[in-house]
Amino acid sequence: MSTATLPTIRQLPPGVVNKIAAGEVIERPASVVKELLENAVDAGAQRIDVTVGQGGLDLVRISDDGCGIAADELLLAVASHATSKIRDADDLFRVDSLGFRGEALASIAEVSHFRLRSRPQGAAAGAELDVRGGQITGPTPCGCPVGTLVEVRNLFFNVPVRRKFLRSTQTEMGHVTEAFTRLALALPGIHFTLRHNERTVYDLPPAADVRTRVAEFFGRELADALIEVESMDRDVKLSGFVAMPSQSRANVRMQYLFLNGRAIRDRALQHALGESYRGLLLTGRYPICFLRIEMPADLVDVNVHPTKLEVRFQDGGQIYAQLLGTLRTRFLSTDLTARGVAPSSAPQDGPAAALDAEKAAQLRQELVGWAKGELGLAPGVGAAEPPLGEPAIDWRGAALGTRPLELVTLDDAAVAAPGRRLPTPAVPTPTSAAANSAAWRGPAPAVQMHNRYLVAEVEEGVMVIDQHALHERVLYEQFRERVLAGELEAQQLLAPEPVPLTAAELAAAIEAADTLAQLGVRVEAFGGDTLLVRSLPAMLGSIDPAELARELVTRLMDCGPAPQRRDLLDHLLHTLACKAAIKAGDPLAPDEVEALLAQRHLAQDAHHCPHGRPTALVFTRQELDRQFKRT
Ligand code: ADP
Ligand code: MG
Repeated sequence: MSTATLPTIRQLPPGVVNKIAAGEVIERPASVVKELLENAVDAGAQRIDVTVGQGGLDLVRISDDGCGIAADELLLAVASHATSKIRDADDLFRVDSLGFRGEALASIAEVSHFRLRSRPQGAAAGAELDVRGGQITGPTPCGCPVGTLVEVRNLFFNVPVRRKFLRSTQTEMGHVTEAFTRLALALPGIHFTLRHNERTVYDLPPAADVRTRVAEFFGRELADALIEVESMDRDVKLSGFVAMPSQSRANVRMQYLFLNGRAIRDRALQHALGESYRGLLLTGRYPICFLRIEMPADLVDVNVHPTKLEVRFQDGGQIYAQLLGTLRTRFLSTDLTARGVAPSSAPQDGPAAALDAEKAAQLRQELVGWAKGELGLAPGVGAAEPPLGEPAIDWRGAALGTRPLELVTLDDAAVAAPGRRLPTPAVPTPTSAAANSAAWRGPAPAVQMHNRYLVAEVEEGVMVIDQHALHERVLYEQFRERVLAGELEAQQLLAPEPVPLTAAELAAAIEAADTLAQLGVRVEAFGGDTLLVRSLPAMLGSIDPAELARELVTRLMDCGPAPQRRDLLDHLLHTLACKAAIKAGDPLAPDEVEALLAQRHLAQDAHHCPHGRPTALVFTRQELDRQFKRT
């Protein structure tokens, strides 16, 4: 029970309200820069100049050549909750401008020495307004170019607590630069400049795509290591660049995500990004990306937080899956990797297809080489990869470097799961293995450990193989060759299996029916949202048709609405291989271990490993010697 006297409820004076609001939107000079830049962009500016004094503590001045503000609307522009960008509550759900709350200028003007000068197109002169801590002078006519200039001096001069919490010039300038960078990356077509204390920090002429901007902000090396990605799923377009795994950071700060031109932070999408690089980056390292998501404004709520950095997607799951699927496809599809890696210079024009194959090959080699190095494989182990420059998967069936492999069923019933097939040791290995520097040393001792790893002696040291990953890879190669040769046998099911799906899944399955049939999986619609599975690939042995169908459909959905047939096939082949492969935990007989190890050259192609996980690790002799202090 409180003894305090009942407080009196009062309406706060507007100045106090604005100060509170200002605190929400304007935290530091960088917030001023962000808000003013957004206004200039919304005004359709083609050139925006930013001048900053003492990290923005003394001065932020932004001028643009946008549409300007009519003299008789200047007062409204600095009034709180006054905006030209939305009209009613419904508009809130289809915001297509960066601003819409109508409180930035009012907030800034409340806590600074503020000047607004503007001249709309066609007006004979401009007009100017001065505001000091909310006290307005003007508007008065003035001469100025078409566009708008906003000057903010002595931020928080009348809010000492805030002022006190501002950091050093350098720190504040860091935040300012970050805000500037985000906008400049989001809108490469606009000319941006940034000056600090009379020094030009950036002068960024309009660029065709974000790659040029990345080079300007972060250097050529990163710009050259970008992989272009693009996908469209229903109404959501994903496009932009992700970095080769050789480029990563210790935090997520280099993950630039732009939603309809607005920089956002989204945990789920960061997670999807991390997932797609799984196995390619070391723990504690994070991918770099510059990705744009474009979707109808009514599918996303940007009105979650005053700074609008967080948004709420109507269907976050779809975007998560799309991002993950797009990147995985990109990483796994060797053809795409080779084709889509950009040239090092003049990316402005020239279709991606006309790309210098040598450069692409080199970059791809880098990716594979990097993965090996980072994941513990000895340098040089991968020196003799299958030809990297050209797509390893050639769906036209020509130029196959490898001979179809024989399959045998092992009759050691004690260990061989029904339908499980491992390659025999006698199988000739593909030609690419011949030049392999990590040459197989014949019947060297190889052991299965924990029912999941195979440990073997190799020239360089000791190789540890993930049995599932390797078998999956082996089967993938075999399936692929059979499919290419049109020899993949289908096994008719005794009783066709009905599989209930969602409408979207069913549609995807039916659309891909031809591709599925190529894989020996014959499906048809069965009324309602049920899919009927009539046959499975004979190679698979005993496998639950419904489970396989579901898995394949999931992969189909990952591929988006109009995937390239070869990407689709590649995806599905990986799924089949994964399903059919021995699992971690399966015990193997010695001859099975041997059969699998005969294919170990495949383990070294880390790039091919589905899910991007490594298939094998090599602990070099030097490394072991070093660890045992033998040197
Ligand atoms: P919001 O951007 O949310 O609408 P602001 O307080 O940032 O709110 O701006 C208020 C209004 O002032 C805007 O809606 C716009 O009409 C006008 N305005 C602000 N800055 C500019 C500019 N640089 N060029 C043209 N008009 C501007
Ligand atoms: Mg605004």
